[in-house]
Amino acid sequence: AAKGDGRGVYRFYSPEMHAEAEDRRQLEEDLRRALVEDGLHLVYQPVVSSKTERITGYEALLRWQHPVRGAISPTQFVPIAEDSGLIGPIGEWVLRTACRDAAQWADDVRVAINVSPIQFANPGLPSVVMNALAGSGLAPQRLELEITESVFLTDGDGTDSMFSRLKGLGVRLALDDFGTGYSSLGYLKKAPFDKIKIDQSFVRGAAIKGSRNSAIIKAIVSLAEALGMDTTAEGAETQDELALIRQLGCSHIQGYVYGRPVPAQEVLVQQHRHGGHIAP
Ligand code: C2E
Ligand code: MG
Ligand code: MG
Ligand code: MG
Repeated sequence: AAKGDGRGVYRFYSPEMHAEAEDRRQLEEDLRRALVEDGLHLVYQPVVSSKTERITGYEALLRWQHPVRGAISPTQFVPIAEDSGLIGPIGEWVLRTACRDAAQWADDVRVAINVSPIQFANPGLPSVVMNALAGSGLAPQRLELEITESVFLTDGDGTDSMFSRLKGLGVRLALDDFGTGYSSLGYLKKAPFDKIKIDQSFVRGAAIKGSRNSAIIKAIVSLAEALGMDTTAEGAETQDELALIRQLGCSHIQGYVYGRPVPAQEVLVQQHRHGGHIAP
């Protein structure tokens, strides 16, 4: 059934729809179990400064190793978690775990965490963030919360006050997947973002001749600079893409060209190697 359909509405299901709903219900149950039985873990992908080629932070990315089906992508199970209310406790686990891991890194290395619009709409989010910071001892300025444009689709007042409550804690805010949603410049005026993450769809293939992507990236960078925000180009895979992105002035780069997401232990190794410098 389509996302957002009202519950309790009578519908006629075909056998295929029934099987799909059953599959989803089963996954939901498995996910619930994974949360309490250690089936979820985080991997961390380096975010690199264009200027210095030092790792300035890592993005925490959630992984689920299903006992039977193997690895399931967050693009598949996060929506299930959102629909079932599981995103609350899962998101809290992500925050606590990532803050605890990051507290072991160098003092100037940040951790970025993806926050679902459902979490963002919950007035309890700031206290969850505060507890994760207090429990780990991580300085608030080392935590960056990534939010997508979809948070703006819900009521305006709640959104505004959530932004100021989170900023009040001293954490950083990033606008994720910029350019894919209902990109409105009005959001940038209202919301106190520290960083814009330029979506992979603009970055990938930008180096191909005749691509319009580089003009778009350039415009986003100058907009961000005028507003005092950093920019991360997401999903750079090739040397050509990297060279172009640096030329276009993005302040940060995240992509396979520097490194895929790695487990927490591997982050410690990367940190010790070359004082946090990384080669493409
Ligand atoms: P995102 O926040 O935009 O994360 C970036 C995604 O791009 C990650 O996919 C990352 O592995 C992938 N990526 C990075 N560089 C490259 C590259 O050079 N090439 C390619 N092909 N891919 C690259 P991943 O880990 O599968 O996560 C997908 C999405 O799932 C994330 O997109 C985010 O929206 C969501 N997600 C992941 N972890 C969490 C979480 O803890 N909480 C919530 N609410 N959502 C999460
Ligand atoms: Mg993200
Ligand atoms: Mg993204
Ligand atoms: Mg995304």
